[in-house]
Amino acid sequence: MSGNGVYLIRGGNVLSQGAAGSGDVLVRNGIVETIGQGLEVPEAVLIDASGMWVVPGLVDIHCHLREPGFEHKEDIASGSAAAAKGGFTTICCMANTDPVNDNAVVTEFIKKKGRDAGHARVRPIAALTKGLLGEELTEAGELAEAGAAALSDDGKSVRNANRMRLALSYAKRFGLTVISHPEDADLVNGGVMNEGRWSTALGLPGTTRAAEETVMARDIMLAAVENTGIHIAHVSTAGGADIVREAKRRGIRVTCETAPHYLYATDELVREYDSNTKVNPPLRTEEDRTALIEALRDGTIDCIATDHAPHHLDDKNVEYSIAASGISGFETALAICWTALVKPGFLSPEELFAKMTHAPSDILGLDAGRLEAGRAADIAVIDPCAEWTVDPAKFASRGKNTPFAGHALTGLVRYTICGGKLTYGG
Ligand SMILES: [Zn+2]
Repeated sequence: MSGNGVYLIRGGNVLSQGAAGSGDVLVRNGIVETIGQGLEVPEAVLIDASGMWVVPGLVDIHCHLREPGFEHKEDIASGSAAAAKGGFTTICCMANTDPVNDNAVVTEFIKKKGRDAGHARVRPIAALTKGLLGEELTEAGELAEAGAAALSDDGKSVRNANRMRLALSYAKRFGLTVISHPEDADLVNGGVMNEGRWSTALGLPGTTRAAEETVMARDIMLAAVENTGIHIAHVSTAGGADIVREAKRRGIRVTCETAPHYLYATDELVREYDSNTKVNPPLRTEEDRTALIEALRDGTIDCIATDHAPHHLDDKNVEYSIAASGISGFETALAICWTALVKPGFLSPEELFAKMTHAPSDILGLDAGRLEAGRAADIAVIDPCAEWTVDPAKFASRGKNTPFAGHALTGLVRYTICGGKLTYGG
């Protein structure tokens, strides 16, 4: 991504190297040239950042861009434009496309589409098994060389535990992180929401939290046996957080993420049978939500990933039990986290930004998520006081599927710069 523009981001609260302070950021030739005070650069385009946070561009290590194969839901251009609007400059997309991203050709195709669109750095995550079938392993070496950011069969777990063990061992040889989607398909048993008081009240089949926790524990134990790292996707339960906490205490190299919706909403939201609340894993209870926030605070949960999962209206505009799972999340992620975590004082702004920038970047070794002189100019300018109401009709994403339409949120991305180029705002 080449940036010929010169930008002077003036008077913001600049978050650099873990510390925040008032200052100016000069962007030239695609890099952060200077971070300083009272900079005067006549040829620069001025961005007034007074009262705003100037932070590293957000990094998302879990999204779905739907291309190739499902362009009616989203494509790489629309998805990465939505990401830019959400403050993201690096996004890692899962492999459940059609064809599946289980070979270098598809990996290269996604990278090229991302570059051509120019809205964000698109880093494909390749499949762990061919066709996501849980049988034959993909060519990790070839995928690593093609630029895969990680390996995952996200959307389902690898059913056969021994195959998962082999996959972990194989991925380790090529330096690729394996991302586990912890879900026991048998235990899900047709469940469409969290199993509990609300599923009973609403008469909808519930999914036990054990469907998530058993596979999570299994995959962590397999990583321990192979003496390798593993990353757990979308932790949604209090018990899941406990499993990761205990594994870390034992010295197992596990990292994990949760998604904004689990920190903000609960299964009570399903009350109106809005299929936009259907997501996998499902929205859980208030006890889970509280436990996830605590796990973010104590470092058990390393990062926040959107699990942006856009769908076409037709995929959602059906009865709850057969509706597609997923939330279009890029454009609400930062505001939901600000509203649920920073505003009530659970996390400081610096702590939240860490969970959405260098922490996820470091998990996959992406070399992103830092705002420093000399580095690529990937920057988000965020207004922490702006209050706004979610209107999916205004989403850049083709997926208008959010259960948060009409919700009042605090915190708004005003500008995004990726590789020195203004990708949103202005
Ligand atoms: Zn998943």
